[in-house]
Amino acid sequence: MTARSDPRCPNDNHGRTIIVVRHCPNCGDIVNATIPKKMCAHAVHAMRRRKQHCYCVDCGAQLRTRL
Ligand SMILES: [Zn+2]
Ligand SMILES: [Zn+2]
Repeated sequence: MTARSDPRCPNDNHGRTIIVVRHCPNCGDIVNATIPKKMCAHAVHAMRRRKQHCYCVDCGAQLRTRL
């Protein structure tokens, strides 16, 4: 398992000891590979898009286009 610390990504999931999500919502990197990938409903992605998440924390799908 590689713990990447990306200085460009400000999300605190990277530095946590207990990570409860599989993917970082900001950069899409897998932050906890032990959590199984989920199949998400469209409503879940729509809700996360409204919360300004760039990537789905469950499946890693890109939700928004990063500028
Ligand atoms: Zn990140
Ligand atoms: Zn998803």
